[in-house]
Amino acid sequence: HLSREDLKALIRTVPDFPKPGIQFRDITTLIGHHQGMAASVHHLAELAGAAGAEKIAGMEARGFIFGAAVAVQLGIGFVPVRKPGKLPIDTIGIDYALEYGTDRLEMDPGAIMPGQRVVMVDDLIATGGTALASAELLRQAGAVLENALFVIDLPDLGGAARLREAGIEVNTLMEFE
Ligand code: 5GP
Repeated sequence: HLSREDLKALIRTVPDFPKPGIQFRDITTLIGHHQGMAASVHHLAELAGAAGAEKIAGMEARGFIFGAAVAVQLGIGFVPVRKPGKLPIDTIGIDYALEYGTDRLEMDPGAIMPGQRVVMVDDLIATGGTALASAELLRQAGAVLENALFVIDLPDLGGAARLREAGIEVNTLMEFE
């Protein structure tokens, strides 16, 4: 399997997206590379297995790409944490603050058995707002949520530290300043 340094070289950095001054870390180039995708999923699945995952939750949309593959690799189910209005059933949801305004995440309230050990997977953690809201929602649905995995950490934005303060162990495959 490719090393973590090799994986980091497969991330494309796009300046000024989605707005001026932001360096967007684009995973399109990583997932388009077969060995890069396979190694990412392998490393994440190893971490999720060690955490005792009984179910993987992924955040829309890039968390679906890695999370679903990790779930298949481990032979366990996958739970999508969705943008509002996407699920065709009565959902439970959580509103959370963004830099400007608010956003919302929703899920199937029956997706998790009470006490099931769920590990969250997303492509990137920045401020941690998305992951903290997802964790709260998954816990409302009955999950034991103590682990979150990300391909990329932006440690300067403090998200991983916020999750750790909330009692969630964080593991990532690479960091960017
Ligand atoms: P946070 O809620 O931690 O501030 O932001 C993380 C969420 O925004 C993740 O769902 C992630 O997909 C998305 N995100 C923010 N910045 C980037 C970026 O530079 N690259 C990618 N791929 N996703 C980002």
